[in-house]
Amino acid sequence: SQEFAGLNALVTGGASGIGRATAELLAARGARVAVLDLDPAGPDGATGSLLGHRADVTDDTSVRAAVGDAADALGGLDVLVNNAGIGARGTVEDNEDAEWQRVFDVNVFGIVRTTRAALPHLRRAAQTGRGPAIVNTCSIAATAGLPQRALYSASKGAVYSLTLAMAADHVREGIRVNCVTPGTVDTPWVGRLLDAADDPLAERAALEARQPTGRLVSAAEVAAAIAYLAGPLSGATTGTALAVDGGMQGL
Ligand code: NAD
Repeated sequence: SQEFAGLNALVTGGASGIGRATAELLAARGARVAVLDLDPAGPDGATGSLLGHRADVTDDTSVRAAVGDAADALGGLDVLVNNAGIGARGTVEDNEDAEWQRVFDVNVFGIVRTTRAALPHLRRAAQTGRGPAIVNTCSIAATAGLPQRALYSASKGAVYSLTLAMAADHVREGIRVNCVTPGTVDTPWVGRLLDAADDPLAERAALEARQPTGRLVSAAEVAAAIAYLAGPLSGATTGTALAVDGGMQGL
């Protein structure tokens, strides 16, 4: 279907994993898509057909420039997918303050900066009746109480709260805000995690077993949920979290 025909989307962290799958799916459904990433071409240049904008979501100046350039190149912005994020392992004793600040700077303040830069464009889309939407990539870690993930979980808990607050703030101007809460998704991120494990195969099996479905979630499955929340079919939905977690939430 071409439900995104005539709509413009910006995906942060769109050069890899969930973001890349989302950018490709939105484009396949008719959107004009720009990718904002540290390296917009991605490790294998796979986003070559999408518009790339280099920016670091921890740097307000580069975010403002990239969002402005993307909106100019696309001719406006209807959809913002705040997906860029980084992981962190450990309990509260395992990471120094600087690491806490670094992860919050990307995962939480990155969303704040990108949203601030995008809102004037989304507002313009709302005024012309185009039904703009923001989708944040949260995580099951926000609510699952996972061991060894204190810092990462706290940052995603903030993303969840921010989603609800932003939804309330912008609903009356016609801008919807939702998030997805993935379980463990088979992306380059998880590949790096497995590479670092003593026994990658055993670690992969443990991650699969943690999900009641017995397998990892695919990036395409998360992208489909993001596309639903970003598109006109979810026009009555704002301030929600859509779980794409292989049933983990019920544990
Ligand atoms: P990934 O590492 O494959 O992709 C993340 C992308 O974000 C990369 O292209 C990277 O360059 C970009 N990025 C990182 N820091 C950035 C910065 N400062 N500025 C701009 N871009 C930056 O990871 P992924 O698995 O696709 O994860 C995407 C999102 O999904 C993250 O927010 C992550 O927390 C979330 N998530 C992932 C999983 C999982 O199991 N993979 C589970 C739940 C949530």
